[in-house]
Amino acid sequence: MRQVAVVGAGILGRLLAWKLSAQGYVVTLFDKGSRDGETTAARVAASMLAPYTEVASAERQVFDWGLMALRWWPEQIAALEAQTGRAVSYGLDGSVVVAHELDKSTLQHFQQQLRAVVPDYIERVERIDAERLTELEPELAPRFRDGLFLPDEGYLDNGALLAALADAIEQQGVCWQPHSEVTDIAPHSLRVNGQAQTFDCVVDTRGVGARDALPELRGVRGEVLWLRAPEVSLSRPVRLMHPRYKLYVAPRPDHRYVIGATEIESESMAPVTVRSHLELLSALYSLHSGFAEATVEHAWSHCRPAMPNNLPIVRGQHGLLTVNGLYRHGYLLSPYVVETALQAFERDCWES
Ligand SMILES: Cc1cc2nc3c(=O)[nH]c(=O)nc-3n(C[C@H](O)[C@H](O)[C@H](O)COP(=O)(O)OP(=O)(O)OC[C@H]3O[C@@H](n4cnc5c(N)ncnc54)[C@H](O)[C@@H]3O)c2cc1C
Repeated sequence: MRQVAVVGAGILGRLLAWKLSAQGYVVTLFDKGSRDGETTAARVAASMLAPYTEVASAERQVFDWGLMALRWWPEQIAALEAQTGRAVSYGLDGSVVVAHELDKSTLQHFQQQLRAVVPDYIERVERIDAERLTELEPELAPRFRDGLFLPDEGYLDNGALLAALADAIEQQGVCWQPHSEVTDIAPHSLRVNGQAQTFDCVVDTRGVGARDALPELRGVRGEVLWLRAPEVSLSRPVRLMHPRYKLYVAPRPDHRYVIGATEIESESMAPVTVRSHLELLSALYSLHSGFAEATVEHAWSHCRPAMPNNLPIVRGQHGLLTVNGLYRHGYLLSPYVVETALQAFERDCWES
């Protein structure tokens, strides 16, 4: 039986450990944190599936690869729910983009950007009036008279997904080694808590923790607030376009919302700053006054792992597979990246 070490139990590591153990590999999963994922960018993320909003400031591939997520996640979530009995909520009913009257030009600019990058999909972008906005998100109608509707967008509940993946991985007999800091990753070998170990193949999915192996990798700091807002009922992701701060609200079950996100070229993992709280929360209050009575359940920061071109990498060689660089698009691109990595694993990581 072939022995595989997966290093890093973020979204990539969990998905690959789940898939590889289902294929019959004997998998050991190492992570420096616990199975709760408190050391992952994956746990902090808003986990929106937003190919249109992302491509406005990214390469076209992000859109093409990202569309795959809208088909792939429902299949995987159904399989995970059947296996573990854990529900993972998600929504694929599109997203709404609004702007205050004074900032209307930002909406127009966003539409122009989309027309330039995805001209073949621009017909899918719907300009909505007050009546349509009332139909989609009635609580936004008092403050906004129009906006955009992006039908091919959605979100998933990352906390529930990471927990379901942890259960499924353990059910399949993966040996999960939490609190295990791994260094010196090389083909067939690694060092864990100072001790050398060998495997038939090592899969490196350490996110920003892989800087020693990937010097060109950088972390891009992001901060989010997780709120419970009993007075707010939004059913889909909402973006507020603003000349200075861009705000999004991603729904979770039971009137919970993830509010984000800052994007700062810094590798600091320090807690969320007062400035970011002020910017995020004042923009949020301008979106919906019901957020005034919300309680802040978490204020989280982490770094998105990014390559110089902000696109992911999948590099296979005999005895080692390196997968990284998901940047802002961990949930949007992991379907494409995981399928590509599984192919590279079979093709490049074994002697022919
Ligand atoms: C604020 C914020 C908001 C985001 N919002 C979205 C969004 O809405 N949609 C979207 O698609 N993406 C979003 N992302 C991006 C997404 O979170 C990341 O792209 C994704 O989590 C990267 O996955 P990963 O598995 O590569 O890394 P991670 O999820 O960070 O996992 C890496 C794992 O490796 C472990 N590790 C690191 N070093 C070591 C070591 N030496 N030894 C052992 N283990 C180690 C860590 O403990 C961690 O568990 C967001 C990110 C942030 C920060």
